[in-house]
Amino acid sequence: MALDRFSRDINYLRISLTDKCNLRCVYCMPEDMTFRPRAELLQDDEILRLVRIFAALGFHKFRLTGGEPTVRAGIVDLVQAVADTPGVRTVAMTTNGLMLDELAAPLAAAGLQRVNVSIDTMDPEKFKKLTRWGDVQDVWAGVHAAQDAGLGIKLNCVVVRGYNDGQDVVDLAQLTLFQPWQVRYIEMMPFGDVADFQMAGVVSEEELRKTISATLGPLTLLDDGRLDGEARLFQLTEGLGTLGFISSVTAPFCATCTRARLTADGRLRLCLLRDKEVNVMEPLRNGASDRELEAMLREAIWWKPWGHGLGKNVIPLNRVMSEIGG
Ligand code: SAM
Repeated sequence: MALDRFSRDINYLRISLTDKCNLRCVYCMPEDMTFRPRAELLQDDEILRLVRIFAALGFHKFRLTGGEPTVRAGIVDLVQAVADTPGVRTVAMTTNGLMLDELAAPLAAAGLQRVNVSIDTMDPEKFKKLTRWGDVQDVWAGVHAAQDAGLGIKLNCVVVRGYNDGQDVVDLAQLTLFQPWQVRYIEMMPFGDVADFQMAGVVSEEELRKTISATLGPLTLLDDGRLDGEARLFQLTEGLGTLGFISSVTAPFCATCTRARLTADGRLRLCLLRDKEVNVMEPLRNGASDRELEAMLREAIWWKPWGHGLGKNVIPLNRVMSEIGG
């Protein structure tokens, strides 16, 4: 078990497999983003070695993200190797879904259990504008392929004031009347030099619930409000699926955070919204033994920050979201 100094059991690792993406969502990365050379990114054998060490430390849930994880060459084999690692219980992926039409079945066969697919609006024009060139039909093809492959499905919607905080959130909520999916509304988080825009665009959970229930009727709180991971769950009357609200900015869940993040260039980040990182790549490439790496990771986890500092205007500046993986 890897405990931090606040007795939180840190057991969930989110690994960014690449900083590259086949979309350029406006709140995530600039259009002219420059990506790191491949040699600077963790290679498959390095990722798998770290997964083994994290699993030995007691980590059992692994999420593959990016950039866009499905654009990484050899993704199916990598998923299989992560899933086969002793101690790994859950392998999930956060993806924009564009490649799932082709990849959902092989990924499920390789051991992937769940996908979180990002879709902020079902309106094709708006979707294109937000992602700078994406076609929402490709996402739907991916979601249906994931369903056919038996993968668990959550849909992630980042809500931006004045953009998708009206009919779009209602349309997505309506899907849960007919599908057993979890639609999750994520408050936009501030990063780097677009932080002002992002903070101004935050729409609170309460406001969203009002918008949804004004059209679709009352929402019932599930599990007495206990969080499912980071999401507070609700359900529409007669809904098959659920609605999750991830309110990192207005109602932080730091006290129950069990996450650590590994960036594509091999930095361990203990809080999504704090700049502090530990360079794992350097010792990894300079001959550190498994035991040395394990000691280093344990120490880093011990010092995981209590929580983010958005309330005190401490905003992460060193990376944009696409480099960390969400
Ligand atoms: N490419 C994949 C995808 O689209 O899901 C994985 C990486 S993406 C960085 C992971 C998640 O972070 C997505 O659901 C995305 O919408 C979300 N995200 C990106 N920038 C964000 C921000 N500023 N605030 C909140 N969520 C953000």
